[in-house]
Amino acid sequence: MAKRLRKAAKFFTIRKRILIVAIFATLVPSLLLGWISYYQTHEVLHAKAAQELASGLERARRGVDAWLEEKFDGLRVFSGSFVLVENLDRYRRWSTAETAGQKRDRLEAEQQLSEFLQLVQNQVPEYHRLLVLEMSGETVAQFPPLQTPTGIESGWVDRLEPDRTLISELLAGKASPTPVVSLGVPIVSAAAEVLGLLVAEVPMARLNTVLESSADLESELLLVRNSGEIVLSSLSWKHQQAVGLTLGYQPEDSAVRKRLASHGNYRGVDVISRSFSLPQVPWRLVVEQPYQSVFAEVDRLHDLALLLILILLAGFGLLAYLVSQSILLPLAKLNRAAAAVAKGDLDVHLETDNRDELGFTITIFNDMVRRLRVGREKLEKISITDSLTGLYNRKHIMDTLSLQFSRHRRNSTLFSILMIDVDHFKQINDRLGHPAGDAALQQIGFIFRSVLRNIDVAGRYGGEEFLVILEQAGEQQALETAERIRSVAEQTELLFAGRIIRFTVSIGVASVRDGWEDTPATLMQRADQSLYLAKQRGRNQVLSAGINQIDKMLALPGGRSD
Ligand code: GH3
Ligand code: MG
Ligand code: MG
Repeated sequence: MAKRLRKAAKFFTIRKRILIVAIFATLVPSLLLGWISYYQTHEVLHAKAAQELASGLERARRGVDAWLEEKFDGLRVFSGSFVLVENLDRYRRWSTAETAGQKRDRLEAEQQLSEFLQLVQNQVPEYHRLLVLEMSGETVAQFPPLQTPTGIESGWVDRLEPDRTLISELLAGKASPTPVVSLGVPIVSAAAEVLGLLVAEVPMARLNTVLESSADLESELLLVRNSGEIVLSSLSWKHQQAVGLTLGYQPEDSAVRKRLASHGNYRGVDVISRSFSLPQVPWRLVVEQPYQSVFAEVDRLHDLALLLILILLAGFGLLAYLVSQSILLPLAKLNRAAAAVAKGDLDVHLETDNRDELGFTITIFNDMVRRLRVGREKLEKISITDSLTGLYNRKHIMDTLSLQFSRHRRNSTLFSILMIDVDHFKQINDRLGHPAGDAALQQIGFIFRSVLRNIDVAGRYGGEEFLVILEQAGEQQALETAERIRSVAEQTELLFAGRIIRFTVSIGVASVRDGWEDTPATLMQRADQSLYLAKQRGRNQVLSAGINQIDKMLALPGGRSD
């Protein structure tokens, strides 16, 4: 688990993490807010549209009712006409006419009825055809005389009552461009007996005007058969092909509060709709509104929200980038510096004007590096220093000698060395104790510091033996310096534990000379041998012996062989 987290952390760099946070911080609230406002707007628009559709439908329903009422009222006026009632009664009376007079009378009644219908038709040209039906279902008279069916159901006789009206299925308008419907009202005698039916075929053209005036700007009102076939459309002036097409979906009566689903209509347009099944008429009113016109505002909101989110994303992305830069640049600097320190470079120092946590870290880092540097310098010093005398130790003085030789080979710079040994040192130890001997050795360090120049280098070669390198000093100068050391040592009276320590030193001098193929070893050998000679000659003296002199000396019995 922890491993996987570490792996993930590696993959998600700080920059990526900051970016992800910025994206989430932008997307989550804006999407949430966007969704809420989208949802609310949608709801409001939906409610508004549903309300508008319902009121449009209601207007249309009232319009259709009024139209029907008007037609029936008009027809009722004629159905109560004395001529009609009288003649139909006469006709019916002689239905089983036997005598020629009766038959004539019946024919006359028929004739009168036809004339009456013609009269009515002349008066109301809107009636396409007028018919008088007898209770047997037989057509007694019609005008104009056409052979087309009336559309009134054959069972009308059983259903007919004095105050009942009848309406036919719609008749596709063969005779007229708009559909035609047959309306029937009973013909009732003075004795309230139903004699027959007065039928008028009425074109529905005017109903179109009713629909048109009931429809809103964006909506379409349709009158359809129960089968879904379109009879009238409020937009038929615009979309003439509407009549005769089917709706394209199953219309249902629905409560106003019900959610409106959208579906493709007969023109292939996505619409929301409401419908209402007219009572007593096999028709249905449908109101449709294009989905787009209702929810266009939502789409605009959607686009606006999207644009806003994009702008926010870009803004916060840039901000995140700048923030990550302000963190990562100093971090990268810190990383590089830490890598340099790890490689051993303690001279790094980071400049910072950050006043934040990173600035604090950089300050701490600088301080840490400084402490490391000081610590290393101390260690370096300790590693080359002789702890007792504070002079350089044997290793360092020998390294310095090698360096001096390299320089001499490059630049032919002169230099000399002194090999210094305390005389009868053992006796100081023996007589005054080892600590007294140590004090004497320390005193020699002080003597070197007082006599030697800054450029000279002095080190403890071992025990009570010292090696001094005299920069740019020839033999003569070296002899003089050695003599001063010897003389100061001789005159030194060191007070230790209440007793005075005196000591002398013997010094062997050796100088590099042009033409001599010296190495550190041969130079040391010459100095050592000069020292040996000085000891042999009675100590407390300085001696620089040439090669020949040394060779001779070494040949003497008892010569130094170490
Ligand atoms: P010579 O004149 O021939 O040089 O005689 P010497 O006694 O100085 O020489 P030797 O080599 O016999 O004795 C050196 C002595 O120095 C032996 C040793 O105990 C002593 N010694 C070496 N290192 C130290 C030290 O660090 N402190 C003390 N107190 N004595 C030391
Ligand atoms: Mg010695
Ligand atoms: Mg000695």
